[in-house]
This record gives sequence, structure tokens and C-alpha cells, in this order.
Amino acid sequence: MKYFIGNWKMFGVPKSINILNKINSFYSKDKNRKKYGVIITPPYTLIESYAKFFKNKKIYIGSQNCYQKDQFSSNTAAISPYMISKVGAKYTLVGHSDNRDEGDTNEMLKNKVQFALKNNLKVVFCIGENKKEKKNKKTFSVLRNQILKVLEKKFNKNKIIVAYEPIWSIGTGKIPTRVELEKTTTFIKKVLRSIFKKKSPAVLYGGSVDGKNIEMFKKIKEIDGFLIGGASKSSKKFIDIIKNYYR
Ligand code: PEP
Repeated sequence: MKYFIGNWKMFGVPKSINILNKINSFYSKDKNRKKYGVIITPPYTLIESYAKFFKNKKIYIGSQNCYQKDQFSSNTAAISPYMISKVGAKYTLVGHSDNRDEGDTNEMLKNKVQFALKNNLKVVFCIGENKKEKKNKKTFSVLRNQILKVLEKKFNKNKIIVAYEPIWSIGTGKIPTRVELEKTTTFIKKVLRSIFKKKSPAVLYGGSVDGKNIEMFKKIKEIDGFLIGGASKSSKKFIDIIKNYYR
């Protein structure tokens, strides 16, 4: 099973549901649809209406983040995993580099993962090295640390997906080479197996994925899907990625 996850970031108003409608009509007729799942993470403001609309369809709605507390609290503007789950989201991203930049610590991320799982949300846990870390050959140690400081054996691995998103690649058009990505994905799965034993959770790639470079990514069998930012705001670009993946 492969995943195509569209992260809309700070984009979208109610009528942007047209984009999802187009993706849904492609998906419902696609002969390959049993091989993959589509998840879209719009901003908080759209989760409830989109999730209602797509309730009985196979497109799932997720959140881009969640607060590190379980249900209700006195934190202004915070939105908990419980609240997200109650409006129909099935997934949440945790640890996107945008949020790590804004101060998410490993301890906060661990709480987010724990409370998201408790509230029946599947977690897409994002990890990735920055440009300087890559240049200094620190990629593996950074990734190992990001995983081991947050994920625990007690978490249900079937509800966790890891998205490898090199920060230097997000929104830049720069992507890793095939060899680099094969090595990194294999490494990430090895670290995940050291926690969860036997089978690793799914590992996705994210960073400047588009309808052209998917030709290279699809050759890497270890990659279980993609987290797509910029290209997910256009139904055509998002559909092209899926079409070219199965071509
Ligand atoms: C992202 O922000 O998660 C992302 C992958 O963005 P982009 O595809 O635009 O690089």
C-alpha cells in the first residue's frame, strides 16, 4: 500500500474543496486505486467540512499539526488531538520542520504522538536534516536522534507513518539522488525496526516531489509513498504524480 499525502500548509478556503473533488473523481475511476491511499491535510479551518464531505469516500482528511495535550486546556489558540479527531480527521502530521522551527521539542513531539494515537489519529511523523547537517555528513545521526527521542516501542506501529523530508529539499526544487535516498530510507527503516521489531512502519519521502521527478522516486521500492506540499494545491499536479507513479 502506497500513500500520497497532500500537505496544503497555509492554503485553502471552503471553495478549495473543488481541488479535492477533482482528485476524488480521478481516484474513484483509477484502475490502480486499490494500490494506494490519498490523504489531504488542509488547514484546521477546513477539516470539519472536508471530512464530512468525504466521509464515505476514500480520501482521508488529516491535520497538519496538533497540540501536545490530550483534550481541553487553557492554551489560547491550541487545538488538541481530541478536537481534531472529533471533527472527522483520521490522520495528523507531527514534527513538520515548519513546526520544529517554531519551537517543537522532542518532548512536545512525543506528547503529540501519544495523544494523537490515543484519540484514534494515525500519525505521520516528519523527520529530516537541514542543509548544514547534510553538508557536515550528519544526516544519519540527526535522523536517528529524531526517531529515537520521540518514537517508543509502546506506540502502535500500524498507526505510525514516518515521512523523511530533508529540510533543504522542501519547496526548493532540490531533491536527493537515487543512491542517497535509497541509503537514507534503508537506514530509517533499520532504526525503526530497532524500536518496533520485525516490520518497520511505512516510510514516505517528502520534498519538492512533482510529476516529473516521481519517475526517479518510483524506482526506489523502499519508499512507501510521498508527502507532497506545493504540488498538492493543484489537482492536476497532484494527479499527475499518481498517474506517473503507476505508468
Ligand atoms: C512539505 O512541506 O511537507 C513539502 C513536502 O513541501 P514541497 O513538496 O513543496 O517541497
